[in-house]
Amino acid sequence: GPVRTIALLGATGSIGGSTLDVVARHPDRFRVGALSAHSRVEELLSLCARFRPEAAVVTDPAAWPALREGLRALGLATRALAGQEGLQEVAADPSNDTVVAAIVGAAGVASTLAAARAGKRLLLANKESVVLAGELLVQAVREGDATLLPVDSEHNAIFQCLPADGSRQGVRRLLLTASGGPFRGRRREQLADISPDQACAHPNWSMGRKISVDSATLMNKGLEVIEARHLFGLPPEAIEVVVHPQSVIHSLVDYVDGSVLAQLGNPDMRTALAHGLAWPERIESGVAPLDLAALARFDFERPDHEAFPCLGLAYRALAAGRGATAVLNAANEVAVSAFLQGRLAFLGIPDLIQASLDVLPGGLTDSLDELLALDAQARRVAESLIDRGRR
Ligand code: NDP
Ligand code: MG
Repeated sequence: GPVRTIALLGATGSIGGSTLDVVARHPDRFRVGALSAHSRVEELLSLCARFRPEAAVVTDPAAWPALREGLRALGLATRALAGQEGLQEVAADPSNDTVVAAIVGAAGVASTLAAARAGKRLLLANKESVVLAGELLVQAVREGDATLLPVDSEHNAIFQCLPADGSRQGVRRLLLTASGGPFRGRRREQLADISPDQACAHPNWSMGRKISVDSATLMNKGLEVIEARHLFGLPPEAIEVVVHPQSVIHSLVDYVDGSVLAQLGNPDMRTALAHGLAWPERIESGVAPLDLAALARFDFERPDHEAFPCLGLAYRALAAGRGATAVLNAANEVAVSAFLQGRLAFLGIPDLIQASLDVLPGGLTDSLDELLALDAQARRVAESLIDRGRR
């Protein structure tokens, strides 16, 4: 295939590192055109030294002088860019044909949309941008003639199991698998004293701290149901969640004739990333072959909505419409960050999201500006509810 030039947004994160691991295995196929971080300049500089991109971006403007100086000290010709403007510039730059959206949180939304409008091959990990602006993203992909390749493992699995012609012919249901997280099997009262480090110790996957907490509350699956609704266009009633603790079956598609197709693999994000990078071809990812006899068994169970109310909150926000999912996402980002800082208990996460939705059930959602205003308003509501709870 052609040599692809990649803009990797969120290069210093967990998905960023897995992407670069796959890319480095295929120097004849991929070039790195741009790398971004938020504020961790030293980590970004060491990636620049190794991959020699044309541009590097820090979204925190305070980090820009150190980036520029560091690139100069390394003797690199890499341009130093800053802020959301810098991100959007590399996402739309004609010299990059592929954009990997691997920023965490709604902070990734404008650059994800910019890549879609510019018609890129868009590998989408940044699920919060879909939850915030799913309709706008689908429209931007259509208008920009972009190629959207989901790399969230469940959505990548579903993409692989849907009809190859892009239709939904004969599809009855999408079955999203959930590991259940580190606290699967616990009752609500056994979740009172969970610490951030306990919540971030996922049994199967090694990930950034925000998504690790989302996996522990099951909000990750709630965000993924909303993501699936937008990416695949099926109604919420046709999207179901089943707990599968081994995380080997990444998701399934149920057809009207009773056939159920699944995609399996070891729990390692490099499989989905290699699929998105090379599609429709297949390339080596470095992931070990699956050893079914060593696994011995697959288990399944229903999600426990009482101990983990976040999944139900996500379905309810999806049904409510009018921007309720944007409020849900913003309140969750505030709640997770407060939990990681020790300002909110683990069980306070669903309570805060529910309370935020009670105060602010939705708002205007026709443009990115309106959605960003709603996102900002929801963050203020959630922060003030935390303050009130601490007084
Ligand atoms: P990490 O926390 O490991 O990395 C986040 C990346 O985003 C870093 O490069 C970070 O820069 C950058 N970043 C953080 N805040 C901002 C901001 N405000 N503006 C711009 N950039 C920012 O996250 P993950 O790699 O775990 O997750 C990334 C996305 O992929 C998330 O949406 C997650 O839900 C999704 N995902 C992740 C999976 C995984 O296995 N990790 C699996 C499926 C989906 P810096 O280092 O400077 O802080
Ligand atoms: Mg996932």
